[in-house]
Amino acid sequence: MQTNFTLAQLADPAIESVNGILRSCVHCGFCTATCPTYVLLGDELDSPRGRIYQMKSFIEEDRPPTAEEVKHIDRCLSCLSCMTTCPASVHYMHLVDHGRAHIEERYRRSLIDRLTRAFIALVLPRPGLFRAMLIAGSLARPFRALMPKRLRTMLDLLPPKLPAPGWADRAAVFPAADAASGSAPVGNRAGKRVALLAGCAQQVLGPQVNEATVRLLNRLGVEVVVTRPAGCCGALVHHMGRTEASHVQAKAMIDAWIAEADGRGLDAIVVNASGCGTTIKDYGHMFRNDPAYADKAARVAALAMDITEFLVRLDMGDVRAPEAMAVTYHSACSMQHGQQIKEPPLALLRSAGFAVKEPAEGHLCCGSAGTYNMLQPELAGRLKARKIANLKATAPDAIATGNIGCTMQLAGNAGVPVVHTVELLDWAAGGPKPAGIR
Ligand code: SF4
Ligand code: SF4
Repeated sequence: MQTNFTLAQLADPAIESVNGILRSCVHCGFCTATCPTYVLLGDELDSPRGRIYQMKSFIEEDRPPTAEEVKHIDRCLSCLSCMTTCPASVHYMHLVDHGRAHIEERYRRSLIDRLTRAFIALVLPRPGLFRAMLIAGSLARPFRALMPKRLRTMLDLLPPKLPAPGWADRAAVFPAADAASGSAPVGNRAGKRVALLAGCAQQVLGPQVNEATVRLLNRLGVEVVVTRPAGCCGALVHHMGRTEASHVQAKAMIDAWIAEADGRGLDAIVVNASGCGTTIKDYGHMFRNDPAYADKAARVAALAMDITEFLVRLDMGDVRAPEAMAVTYHSACSMQHGQQIKEPPLALLRSAGFAVKEPAEGHLCCGSAGTYNMLQPELAGRLKARKIANLKATAPDAIATGNIGCTMQLAGNAGVPVVHTVELLDWAAGGPKPAGIR
């Protein structure tokens, strides 16, 4: 694609990077076929190619985007299916991240939009506040009909029951074969040490995921450290275009992990929410122009691994599913497109004895996409219905996934339990049966 940035614009490293991305697009349109919003709406402006043109226009002209342009960029899920399909390796993620930051800086949204976004950005990355808001929300349920549409949408996303806080989310060191594992070690003792991202929303909505992760790793001979601050990696606000806030959160995690790596040492930083993993692996790019953080961020990005990437390299030993079960694996977009992790979760589940199935249209997003189901409920609902139908068609006993957002989006509608892959592996290795599995 031809671009016309001025030399002055290109002196900005961020614009230079955008220019390179835009120039790599050859307009072929292959990406449109696998873009969920284009599949639903059939509008070129809601396709990756159409969005690339729109972002080129307002970035190149260095102007505030129009309301129409913002509508189409907002409708993008950041699912990155287009990146998997693109034959020219166009880095759509970096482009849309820049486009969203440009919108955040130069476009004035309606008051209700600004309040909704500010509320989400304030609450979701802070587990204590998020928990308090969920409790308040469940108390407010009886008054749902009296509330504005935006609040009703958020109330509808609340889980029916809030789990109690977990033991694996506090800053602590969990030694290998810790008493918490409750059973004999399995596999060849790994002798490794990893940091675990405790996360933000996940520790409130699904504390059992971190517990299963720690228990399983401990049994495999891996020491796990949850560092202080045990908080958000910055992904949630980063995808809302709030660069400054995301950098503050990311820097806190980088400092904590680098201190740990330079102290007692780390073999990996294990992440069990693929949305977070995609962002942490991108820290090197996010901080490339920050002299104080560029090296540290690149080191953290190089250490980051999804839990399934880490496990597949260990000898899991004789880990067998206690019951014959058909498990349909739903690959989160951030897993299959963002991190290009496809085979490890399937291989681990199969080797643990589960009969693994995959749904039709597995490349299409379930509509969760970080905060998308709160900000774009209509499109998110259509994608969810489509995903549920495809998952149900496989007649599973359970659905496994590797991202809390997908779990929350699908749970309650799938007709079977939706669990994290690591919960099933932990069960197969002697841990407790995941909740809901009959
Ligand atoms: S990230 Fe997903 S929704 Fe956005 S343009 Fe690419 S394929 Fe479409
Ligand atoms: S597939 Fe890649 S090169 Fe082709 S239009 Fe889409 S982004 Fe551009």
